[in-house]
Amino acid sequence: MQMTFFIDTTRCTACRGCQVACKEWHGLRANKTLQRGTHQNPPDLNSLNYKLVRFAEYKKNGRVVWYFFPDQCRHCQMPLCKEASDLHVDGAILKDTATGAVIFTDRTRLLTPDQMKEVITYCPYNIPRIDTGAGTLVKCDMCIDRVRQNLLPMCVKTCPTGAMNFGVRSEMLKMGEQKAKELKKEWPEAQLVDREDVNALFLLTDDPKAYFQSAQGQRS
Ligand code: SF4
Ligand code: SF4
Repeated sequence: MQMTFFIDTTRCTACRGCQVACKEWHGLRANKTLQRGTHQNPPDLNSLNYKLVRFAEYKKNGRVVWYFFPDQCRHCQMPLCKEASDLHVDGAILKDTATGAVIFTDRTRLLTPDQMKEVITYCPYNIPRIDTGAGTLVKCDMCIDRVRQNLLPMCVKTCPTGAMNFGVRSEMLKMGEQKAKELKKEWPEAQLVDREDVNALFLLTDDPKAYFQSAQGQRS
């Protein structure tokens, strides 16, 4: 069965509850943040943040719009990170057949630093990060320990607005397509980004690049 996130960015208020809940569930310590003229903090995904609410100000038709994007691994149908990793170490990255989750295992420590960088380069969404302390590659694991117990991923359970949703792929697709159809009346560019390729369906109302560079996959 393929499990899928449906992430409705039109409901995201950037409270960052998902970001904090993800850290808390995975026992990731706090990291020092600085005010850089934006509420996006930390500035990028890192080995202590598998989830990051990205902020973007964008000018459209003379008005300023403010977009929020709760970034995370897309649990791709055909994960290119795994393809790259399999060239060097068997079983370092797995695609869980029961859920569709893409899981980085402890065997990623067998990859050389250059091979880790290659895996990162293969990812169309620039998601994996190197944990230099543990010597592993890390990212969102779909909260697979929770999902196997029929519990929601922490980011979904925590979201107070309904922006984060999770379930069987067919149901999430149906929910996302229905909402995209409604939004198209006011926002003609409303779309589920890369819907055929990913198990994290982001609903956007504008050009994905208005949200951030890797909102849409770079598959060359
Ligand atoms: S988003 Fe990147 S890290 Fe996640 S499954 Fe796809 S290729 Fe792998
Ligand atoms: S599914 Fe789990 S690991 Fe992935 S972003 Fe959500 S809380 Fe973090």
